[in-house]
Amino acid sequence: MNLRSFFLTLAAAGGLCIPASAAPDRVQCVTGLQQHEVPAEPMLPEESAPVRNVIYMIGDGMGIDQISCGALTNGGRLHLLTLPHTALAGTVSASHTITDSAAGGTALACGCKTANGCVGLNAAGEPQESLAEAAAARGMAVGLVVTGDITDATPASFYAKVKHRSMAADIAKALLRFRPQVVLGGGAAHFSPQEQESLREEGRLAELTAPGDLPPAAERGDVLPQNVDRALRRLSACPQGFFLMVEGSRIDKAAHHEDLEDTVRELLDFDRAVGVALDFVRQHPGTLLVITADHQTGGLALTGGDAARGEVRASFGTNGHSGTVVPVFAAGTRAAREFRGFMQNTGVQQRILRALPPKNTPALPGMSQKS
Ligand SMILES: [Zn+2]
Repeated sequence: MNLRSFFLTLAAAGGLCIPASAAPDRVQCVTGLQQHEVPAEPMLPEESAPVRNVIYMIGDGMGIDQISCGALTNGGRLHLLTLPHTALAGTVSASHTITDSAAGGTALACGCKTANGCVGLNAAGEPQESLAEAAAARGMAVGLVVTGDITDATPASFYAKVKHRSMAADIAKALLRFRPQVVLGGGAAHFSPQEQESLREEGRLAELTAPGDLPPAAERGDVLPQNVDRALRRLSACPQGFFLMVEGSRIDKAAHHEDLEDTVRELLDFDRAVGVALDFVRQHPGTLLVITADHQTGGLALTGGDAARGEVRASFGTNGHSGTVVPVFAAGTRAAREFRGFMQNTGVQQRILRALPPKNTPALPGMSQKS
């Protein structure tokens, strides 16, 4: 049984809403959230030709349980669950069984295990090249789209090398040096107006629309799907292809707060952004789409629900991260060859890196590798 049929079976069984037997007072119930359409069988181009574009989507804290809860509230369907290739990834860091977003982000961005708190450095403290930097070195355009603060650990892992994720001023300087073609999200408080202007030089698209994180999904509307669409339009003009990282940053935060409704809202918002990315993959052969998480947050456990009513019951086991494996979904060019079975989170990065075109093209102006 593949994941898609598993979730459809889950949805079909949703009418049997069995109450949780353990700690029922901790079970939260969410119902009646706005649903979105998901096409049943998307036609996706699959070739083994070199990858021209990479869309790398990271749901911060998005474990199997967050996805399962989101699927139930959306009638059993998610764009995520239509991706044809799946794998599992281990998330242990170099220092802890339970990773944080810095070590998790560094594994996904740079392909090395490191200590919790570390950004862009390996366990020996040596700077590592990220996928965004590797793409820039190949002349590809780079975009970063987040719903959190652009200097947070996950996006920072793609452009900064610092000993600790709390070094926001150094991380901001690294972004100013790297200057991707597209930067959309929050984190304006770390940049002066002049610095924000410099992120927009030479026709770059850069908008940091909140001092820190963007507002929660319930308040920010369709900002993430729209920003993914804007980023793809802008980046696809680059003749040498592009690398786009998208983070659903606030799935993690909602689960830290043990708020099921907010967790599901963030998951559904991320899934709508996945729908935008899938449309692009369908229309642009040569694109690889990979979607995963840095870790699971909240020890979320789905204990009941009803897909027909869009209802889910679940409880949180912790207000921190958990150590369970996370899913990897892939579609498009080289997805079938690269993404199957079990791998470490570092293996997700390594598979994307070897799918990139050869390193023989000059960098675009302003796309310095130094950070
Ligand atoms: Zn977290």
